[in-house]
Amino acid sequence: MKRLFLILSAFLTVLAGHAQNVDSLTIKNIFDQALTSREAYNNLEYLCSETPGRLIGSEASIEAQAFMMAYFKNLGADKVYYQEFKSDAWKCDSAAVFIVLEKGKLKALHCDALGPSLSTPALGITAEVVEVKSLDEAKRMGSEAIRGKIVFYNRPWDPTIINTFYGYGNMHDQRGHGPAIAADLGAAAVIVRSLTNCSDHIPHTGSTRYGETKIPAMAISTLDADLLSETLKKNPATKINMFIDAKEMKQITTYNLIAEITGSEFPDEYIVVGGHIDAWHNTAGAHDDGAGCVMSADVLRTFKTLALKNKRTLRVVLFMDEELYQSGGDAYAKSVKEKGEKHLLALESDGGAFTPRYFTISANEEVVAELAKYQPLLHPYGIDEIKAGWGGVDIGPLKSQGIPLAGYGTDSQRYFDLHHSANDSFDKINLRELQLGCGNMAAFIYLIDKYGIGE
Ligand SMILES: [Zn+2]
Repeated sequence: MKRLFLILSAFLTVLAGHAQNVDSLTIKNIFDQALTSREAYNNLEYLCSETPGRLIGSEASIEAQAFMMAYFKNLGADKVYYQEFKSDAWKCDSAAVFIVLEKGKLKALHCDALGPSLSTPALGITAEVVEVKSLDEAKRMGSEAIRGKIVFYNRPWDPTIINTFYGYGNMHDQRGHGPAIAADLGAAAVIVRSLTNCSDHIPHTGSTRYGETKIPAMAISTLDADLLSETLKKNPATKINMFIDAKEMKQITTYNLIAEITGSEFPDEYIVVGGHIDAWHNTAGAHDDGAGCVMSADVLRTFKTLALKNKRTLRVVLFMDEELYQSGGDAYAKSVKEKGEKHLLALESDGGAFTPRYFTISANEEVVAELAKYQPLLHPYGIDEIKAGWGGVDIGPLKSQGIPLAGYGTDSQRYFDLHHSANDSFDKINLRELQLGCGNMAAFIYLIDKYGIGE
């Protein structure tokens, strides 16, 4: 009996080893494909050069979707279609801000409006400035000190935080909620220090959440924030002249783009891979998130080219409007619920196309442990960890339907140098790193499709 058991267990070990070998070989094929194709790179170059500033509601955002739709059709995807929905949108035509110096001289600062900022009156707002380092400090000062003034949130990036997403999170409240709090206290407008560790003249925009009262709000570059702070130290009565020309658009029609390869065994089960096609008005959106879109599209290209015969339906989703109102992710999740579509998992890439590092999983412990077993297969290609963590903003609304979510993670050290700024341009993309991202996303999806989850 003991001998039979030994023979049986040896046999099973050989079988498991064989499966691992087959998977290693397929993954090698996937990477050979990814590392010798420039299609994702070329697609990204097009998005950056021909459709920069593709914020929801812009012509560029529709052109970008049309370009990717033609690409998917050309690849021979089984289904390619727009998922139409309605959302508010916003556009910024211009923004400017000046320190009013002695004798009425003006010193221009590098700035950009936050979305969806209100416009200023045509001649701008001229007011004194109150500098604070936190929302609490503004609240403590109270409306008497703040009414009619411009609140300047100037808590800098903490460079001792290693993971830059946490560094960003540590500053984020100033931009995300600072304008609403200042508006409640009667402020005329808000200026926020750009959310970056860089010392340069590039402003970084982003979204803000207003309460009932809206006031104009903008970000200035970090060097200009330092200059403004110094100027205020010398003369606390210094005034600022601020100008924003922006427009809200109510309930426009827009689209997510969906492309599929139908599953060979379970066509009614879906695996989603995606990124967001929209980008702020001031940027080409190369890393954020043109890269996520072209890498997701490349997963479909690789499955097609290698004829990998996915068991489940592989669905690439290029979400509209991650940046302003996250309406594309909401529209997608709503449709999944209404149609009762079974989703095995959704994977998002929205952390740029830098050196591959990890996948994060937002699901129960068993699912995390199951997917973490694939890490040794992806380790040769740069994946150090598959661990519990964040999925993504666009796929986030699927969480309440119990769908496991995953995020592709790269080396984050340079991401916030570029994020939401004119610096996020195609020349910051490294072909090799982008290709490794394509390969890792395709390989991870291949394993999940082949073995399922909880089977
Ligand atoms: Zn993004």
